[in-house]
Amino acid sequence: MTYQVLARKWRPKSFSDMAGQEHVLQTLVHALDNQRLHHAYLFTGTRGVGKTTIARIFAKCLNCEEGISSTPCGKCSACLEIGEGRFIDLIEVDAASKTKVEDTRELLENVQYAPSVGRYKVYLIDEVHMLSNHSFNALLKTLEEPPPHVVFLLATTDPHKLPITILSRCLQFSLKNLSPQKIVEYLSSVLIAEQVPCEEGALWSIAKSAQGSMRDALTLLDQSISFCAGNVTEAEVSTLLGTPDQALILRIVAALNAEDANDLLETVSVIASRSFDYFLLLDNLLSLLHRIAIAQLVPGGVDNSQGDREQILGIAKQLTAEQVQLYYQIALNGRADMNVAFDARMAFEMLLLRMLVFSPQAPASSAIETAESATPDDSTDTQKKKPELISEPEPEIRLEPDNANTQTQAPSPEPLVEPQRQTDAPALSAAQDASATLEQPPEPDPIAVAEVAVASDAAPAVAEADPAPRNQTERWIQIVRDLGVTGITGNLLANCVLVDMSDNSVTLTLDETQSALYNEEHGRRIEQLLSEHFKKALKLTLLISAIDAESPAQFRQRMREEALQQARTEFEEDEHIQAIINTFSAYIVPDSVSILSEEKP
Ligand SMILES: [Zn+2]
Repeated sequence: MTYQVLARKWRPKSFSDMAGQEHVLQTLVHALDNQRLHHAYLFTGTRGVGKTTIARIFAKCLNCEEGISSTPCGKCSACLEIGEGRFIDLIEVDAASKTKVEDTRELLENVQYAPSVGRYKVYLIDEVHMLSNHSFNALLKTLEEPPPHVVFLLATTDPHKLPITILSRCLQFSLKNLSPQKIVEYLSSVLIAEQVPCEEGALWSIAKSAQGSMRDALTLLDQSISFCAGNVTEAEVSTLLGTPDQALILRIVAALNAEDANDLLETVSVIASRSFDYFLLLDNLLSLLHRIAIAQLVPGGVDNSQGDREQILGIAKQLTAEQVQLYYQIALNGRADMNVAFDARMAFEMLLLRMLVFSPQAPASSAIETAESATPDDSTDTQKKKPELISEPEPEIRLEPDNANTQTQAPSPEPLVEPQRQTDAPALSAAQDASATLEQPPEPDPIAVAEVAVASDAAPAVAEADPAPRNQTERWIQIVRDLGVTGITGNLLANCVLVDMSDNSVTLTLDETQSALYNEEHGRRIEQLLSEHFKKALKLTLLISAIDAESPAQFRQRMREEALQQARTEFEEDEHIQAIINTFSAYIVPDSVSILSEEKP
């Protein structure tokens, strides 16, 4: 038996089978049942929303042997032949392929003759806007004096291209894009009838991708059924569509809310293994945060475009409005960062960790505070606290239960077990401590750990207005990145470190090994750039000497090397590479591993 594609098999056969377009159907049903018929109808709307389907059902309504009504019998020869596309008095034309005036003349030549078997001769002209001007004129003549037995059904995606003279002679119906809800309901009914098991989330992903077109949705469903070998799952569909599944985005927000860095990084691993586009992912995260923010302020205003309305309302209650705003801001700024990062995954991970660290009840920073000092105060200077930590190891143990409590991945912390592990360990610096807690999952990602160390090191230096500032070094790296200056000036900036910044002055040290290119013109340019960036006049003092902090250039270099090292390790450990080495006695040429996605200048 030949397989019939779903879009064709499940094309509605009657008005009551149709999903959506109620506003159009109601008018047509009323007209048919009251015999108030017009001789020309125009159906407009984007592709796959039901224009020709409605037109064909309408043709049945007009020609059903049981009489004109909105409920054709579906059994008489007229109904059956129309359904099979072989009814002699339904003349279907695709105007896109018949644009010439001769075509239209030929088409309209027979208009004057009575229908052969039916009650009405129905002309269904699809993509009618494609006709030439001459063809429109020929059509117009017929529309001006239509024979009583003729009905024109015109369909177009682009009504603006139709001459006003044609438009004014048609009853116009504008079809809407189908809502995701409508599409999901229809696809569900199709799958039940086809006896194909499926996850609801998968249908929401398809509905979102179909962008209002039922035909596209059914085609995607067809593909999904083959791709998923019969059982349609959300994860597989999202892989097929290349769109991150909403479940993953929700998991990110849940992990942020639970302050669970482990799960956050775990989620990124899942994402990485399925090679989603990180920009798309970020956009979906932004969209989710936007909807959560709406849910917090106007609960009734949340749409159900992904079938997750209830979930969103639930999350909205768990997060504070400030948290959501902060996450959104960080995500938005992170988008720019991702453009210049040489590794999208790293940038994405960094961005999520930033959300975690700067969150009003950030776990990493609170963990550091408790680990650092027996009396957690609101001092925000990590640099000063580190020595205290090393000289006084015991508070770590005493405060461990608190620390464990902040780690939500342990639902019922057992003080006896947790401190045991910690007392064995030597006193750790704040950064090491944060990364150590992250090493709990079986396979810590080296890059991720390095990133965490940087992020949480900087965490306590939070200023309330700007979500980005960290310690001086990090802050300067961020500023230089934001400035996005290239050329010699950019190069000089990247080789400076920030010494001091006040309301009206800024002091930088330029790495003396890089000072050859410097002249006063560059100094003025840097002063101007920084003044513009901070929107206030800043006086620049530029010192040239050896630098004792990491410059943006050094930071970039280090990140590049770490990523390269990571790539080398992954490459060497790859089972396929191992198999090649073992089978062919091959070896990897030293230094031949490189990263293709090099950082943009
Ligand atoms: Zn019939």
